[in-house]
Amino acid sequence: MGIEISGSGSRQSVALADLNGNILQRIRRPLEYVPDTQTVLQLLDDMLAEVMHPQRLQDGRVLRVGVAVGGLVDATHGVVRTLHHAHGWDNFPLQDYLEERLDIPCIVDNNANAAALAEAQYGAGMGERFILYVGLGRGIGGAMIVNGKIYHGATCSAGEIGHLLVKEHGPKCSCGNFGHLEAIASAQAISRTMIGLSVEHPETEAAIRRVTEARAERITAEQVFRLAAAGDQVAQQIVEEVHTYLGIALANIVHLMNPGIIILGGQVAQAGELLLTPLQARLRDLCLPVASENVRIVQGKLGTEANIVGAVTLALQDI
Ligand SMILES: [Zn+2]
Repeated sequence: MGIEISGSGSRQSVALADLNGNILQRIRRPLEYVPDTQTVLQLLDDMLAEVMHPQRLQDGRVLRVGVAVGGLVDATHGVVRTLHHAHGWDNFPLQDYLEERLDIPCIVDNNANAAALAEAQYGAGMGERFILYVGLGRGIGGAMIVNGKIYHGATCSAGEIGHLLVKEHGPKCSCGNFGHLEAIASAQAISRTMIGLSVEHPETEAAIRRVTEARAERITAEQVFRLAAAGDQVAQQIVEEVHTYLGIALANIVHLMNPGIIILGGQVAQAGELLLTPLQARLRDLCLPVASENVRIVQGKLGTEANIVGAVTLALQDI
C-alpha cells in the first residue's frame, strides 16, 4: 500500500498495489485549505479503512505500507521532521503511528526520494545506475539513486537541492534563507514572479488573463514557458532566470555526482522540451566534457503519479 502526503498536508492519496507495483485501487481526497495534523490523520484513517475493506482485499493481505511525504523526513526512524508548507508536523513519528494503528510494517520517506525510486524502477530511469531526480513542484525536491538504492546521507537530508545557494542576495526561500534554487525555479516561484512583474506590463497582464480565463492566480509554470515561447518578454525574462540558475545547480551536481541521467519531474517539467533543450545546452557549456557528454536530461515518465507510485515502490523494496 502507498500513501502520499503533500507538503501542505492538503493533498493525500492512498493506493493499493500488487507485488509487481500495478495499482489496483486508488483514492484521492484533496482539500481546498491547509488542514491541521489531526484532520489529515483522520482523513487518512478513513481512506485506509476504505482501501483495506475485506471486499477489496479479497483473499489478499497488505504486506507493507510506504509513505511519501512532501517535507523533511528522517527515513531511518520514520519521523516527519517538518513540512515547509504546514504547521504541526514537526518531529511527528508517522511510522510508529501507522504501525500501531494498522499492525503492518511501514516505511516513510521524502516524496522526491520515493518518486526517484519509482522513476528508476518503472519510469525514465530504468536500467540506469546513477540517477539524479529533481522534482520541480510547489517546492523543489531532489534525490539520488545509486545502484537502485536511495542515497540518504548521514542525516537523511541528501538531495535537498532546492536549498542550494545559486544567487547571492536572491529572493527569500521557504526555509527562510535567500537565493536558494527553490525561490527561483519552483512552480510557485515562477507563477508568483510572473504575476508580480505583470503589474507593470499591461500586455503580459492581458496574456495571463487570456490563458487563465481571467483567474491570474492560477497561472502555471508551464503556461509561463509557453508565453515565453510565444514572445512575451516578461515570461522570457523569468524562463531565462530558471534556465540560468537551474543550469548552475545541475552543473555543480553533475561535477559532484557524475549521474548518467537527470530526470525532471513536477509541474515545471510539464514544460517539456522548452525546459530540457536549453538546460542540456547549458550543461555542455558549464561542465567538463567528461562529466556532461553522456548525461541525458529527460522528463519523468510517471508525471503527476510519481509520488504515489513512489510510495508503493518504497513499500515493495526488498519484498
Ligand atoms: Zn531554502
